[in-house]
Amino acid sequence: MSYKVNKQKCLGVKNCGICIQTCPGATKERKDGKAEVVNQKKLEKCGGERVCPMRAIERIDEERGTSPAY
Ligand code: SF4
Repeated sequence: MSYKVNKQKCLGVKNCGICIQTCPGATKERKDGKAEVVNQKKLEKCGGERVCPMRAIERIDEERGTSPAY
């Protein structure tokens, strides 16, 4: 299982940044200003997809191949 930031839903770190504040080290700002996951384990401990109020952090179940198409 892993987590991914849906760029369409992410408001951008400058506008939001809640994931970085609530779970430092789990996500970071990309070059385009959106968040990206850098530490899956840490993010999972913080609550995974619940860390993002915009639901931009999505859980991907790789084993079952249910990863949504972006
Ligand atoms: S909390 Fe969600 S919307 Fe806000 S920066 Fe992080 S991923 Fe983007």
